[in-house]
Amino acid sequence: MEVPSQPRVLINDIQTDVCIVGGGYTGLWTAINLKQQQPDLDVVVIDKGLCGSGASGRNGGCMLTWSTKYLSMKKLYGEEEAVRLVKASEQAIYEIDAFCKEYRIDAQLRLHGTLYTATNYAQRGTMEPILNALDRHEINSWQQWQKKQVRQGAGSELHQEGFYSPAAASVQPAMLVRGLKSVAEKLGVKVYENTPMEDINTDIPITITTPQAEIFAGKVVLALNAWMVEKFPEFKRSVVLVSSDMAITEPIPDKLEPMGLKDGKTVVDSRIFVHYYRTTPDGRLMLGKGGNHFAYANRIGETFDQPSRYQSLLRYSFNRFFPELQDQKFATTWTGASDRSVTGLPFFGSLKHSNNIFYGLGYSGNGVGQTWIGGKILSSLVLAQDNEWSRCGLVSGPKGYFPPEPFRWTGAMMVRNAIRRKEAAEDAGEKPTWFDKQLAKFANAAGKADKA
Ligand SMILES: Cc1cc2nc3c(=O)[nH]c(=O)nc-3n(C[C@H](O)[C@H](O)[C@H](O)COP(=O)(O)OP(=O)(O)OC[C@H]3O[C@@H](n4cnc5c(N)ncnc54)[C@H](O)[C@@H]3O)c2cc1C
Repeated sequence: MEVPSQPRVLINDIQTDVCIVGGGYTGLWTAINLKQQQPDLDVVVIDKGLCGSGASGRNGGCMLTWSTKYLSMKKLYGEEEAVRLVKASEQAIYEIDAFCKEYRIDAQLRLHGTLYTATNYAQRGTMEPILNALDRHEINSWQQWQKKQVRQGAGSELHQEGFYSPAAASVQPAMLVRGLKSVAEKLGVKVYENTPMEDINTDIPITITTPQAEIFAGKVVLALNAWMVEKFPEFKRSVVLVSSDMAITEPIPDKLEPMGLKDGKTVVDSRIFVHYYRTTPDGRLMLGKGGNHFAYANRIGETFDQPSRYQSLLRYSFNRFFPELQDQKFATTWTGASDRSVTGLPFFGSLKHSNNIFYGLGYSGNGVGQTWIGGKILSSLVLAQDNEWSRCGLVSGPKGYFPPEPFRWTGAMMVRNAIRRKEAAEDAGEKPTWFDKQLAKFANAAGKADKA
């Protein structure tokens, strides 16, 4: 990530119409939307570190849609809204691409689609009910590829089945978030970095205390993602903080090209905690896996901000996908926290005791494209607009709660370990135990393709 020599820190008290706390994709898309609609509105963004130092600057850059979650969304929000959200999430991919072109953000965005695959016999056929439903509404962007084509397109013989959708992209995540920051500033948003919100007084004007100064705001947007829980106990049980772990090679284009890995297509398998991988324009190969470390009591400590503790797991997966690269060292590994909600979908709303403080979180490992929708929703709420975004099914607060500690963490470990045993058995062509299959259902309830 490009690091500015002099991040602007807030040192004097200020007044503003809207203060956005958190300078990741959610906060910055919201700021940009607000300014585009009302250029005179005074908008401030603060971040405790640099914009992008959270998930937005360190994710896998797989820009995917909600089409694989259609059935869950239908159950939660009804058919019409689910169809609308699938379409909106596909539109988001093309809109982000157009936005980057219009504002000359070089985020290495490559609109090369995604392959959703099965890597063992048990994973086969899981897309069928979803695709049938998408077909019925004529919103099915997926097409099945022949096994040979899947293996060629995904650069690995491990794949048994695959579906391709062009409505997906890959992106350099930090370059995107820093680009959004620059655009926001050009539109007149004041961005203060290294300026953590230490406290918030919800009386009007809302007062946000930072180490050196106070901000008096008419409205506030909390775009804190995993940090929401530490500041606002009302969200303590609405998300689980879970790691996604990533590894990347040095540039090896001469090795990747003969394997068929030569574009920006993303590849995602059908596990509950999926593997996902892609190449970079300079010919690196990056692989990630969600669902490894679960934070006890949702404490977001250093564990989420260091090289991955799961390097041997990443190595094992990498070697299974790409045995010809087993001697290829990783250039680096890293990790980060995802905010997994009960439904696997984000939720938006206003704080219980303040109609002027809005929030959005719970992307559950699928936020690179979806935060564009988050920005539409939050800006509509701030501007008190009555539109498809403010009335959206996702504006319903948390749709469920996890059990309190210590039950949540203990339960999460039991489910995670059962999933590991079940998937290891399936990889070996064996039958998982009944017990492991039942436990795994707890994680699977939310739908497909969560990277957390
Ligand atoms: C390792 C990893 C891989 C992932 N891979 C993918 C992927 O390939 N595809 C995909 O779609 N999604 C992926 N995700 C999820 C995606 O990155 C997130 O859903 C998305 O970035 C969320 O954006 P956000 O702005 O809501 O949160 P964030 O980017 O986390 O922003 C929150 C911001 O709040 C700031 N903050 C926290 N506390 C305070 C405070 N007290 N005061 C001020 N500021 C504060 C933080 O510094 C941070 O910048 C991944 C996530 C991780 C962690």
